[in-house]
Amino acid sequence: MIRVRDLTKYYGSKCAVDSVSLDVERGTVYGLLGPNGAGKTTIIKMLTTLSRPTRGSIFFDSIDAVRQSEEIRRLIAVVPQDRNFDAELSVYENMLVYGMLHGVDGLKRKIEESLAALGLSGERNTPAGALSGGTQKRLLIARTLLPGPEVLFMDEPSVGLDPQVRRDIWDIVRDIRAGGRTVFLTTHYMEEAESLCDKVGILSKGRLVIVDTPANLKESVGRYVVETGLPDGKRNRAICMSRQDAVAIAEAAGNGAVIRPSNLEDVFIKVTGEVIEQ
Ligand code: ATP
Repeated sequence: MIRVRDLTKYYGSKCAVDSVSLDVERGTVYGLLGPNGAGKTTIIKMLTTLSRPTRGSIFFDSIDAVRQSEEIRRLIAVVPQDRNFDAELSVYENMLVYGMLHGVDGLKRKIEESLAALGLSGERNTPAGALSGGTQKRLLIARTLLPGPEVLFMDEPSVGLDPQVRRDIWDIVRDIRAGGRTVFLTTHYMEEAESLCDKVGILSKGRLVIVDTPANLKESVGRYVVETGLPDGKRNRAICMSRQDAVAIAEAAGNGAVIRPSNLEDVFIKVTGEVIEQ
């Protein structure tokens, strides 16, 4: 569905995105995982035609996103990080304004469907600014679904939300995928990437270091981790391919060594040498 090759973006002499190539299958969730400044937003801006690549190509099926931006904009919708609705208008009015701006046919019916799908029917008359953070996010998502986009871009969909609300947003994203849409998201939350994404691309300093399913990523760096305590109170971690190796390391380390399954944070540290603040 989306095919990106050699995507590169310079801001002046600063290389923000460096020769990124990736493929996103229709009806899947693709997650770009990386710390602040890795280049995630810059990639989303290029994929959504808001920024022109310095070099490289982006195709949505056979449509060239660099040259046919109007056509791409009819296919996609972007759920922004900022709450860019009108805080004084009600949920319903915000939906109406968005739908009218986007020329949505059968708007009233679609608003009802979208409100129901996002669990917002009971909030239709509430001013958007009075909603909780998670419900505001649901409004942002409900609006973007009105024109029936094939691909939804979400920049850090659950940033700033508490853990339970974050999980609600993940369920919504899963429903969107179940409806056959493609979702491309950025995140710096390991758990979000691991539990939500069919494929995860790990981005570090503008470069895509590795791409695979969360399970394969963990498999490729090692399924087991031995954690041992250091004298300064920090924990040391060793990633092992086999349980046998893990047991040997844990036994050598002695008391306080813990063996656990590897997670995406271990993969991230191993392939980038960096740590993401969660
Ligand atoms: P964040 O989550 O903090 O936005 P990110 O992974 O989305 O991080 P980008 O915002 O894409 O990263 O930024 C990538 C790099 O490009 C950073 O070093 C940033 O400072 C730089 N950058 C981004 N936008 C501009 C700009 N308009 N002009 C100059 N440099 C920029």
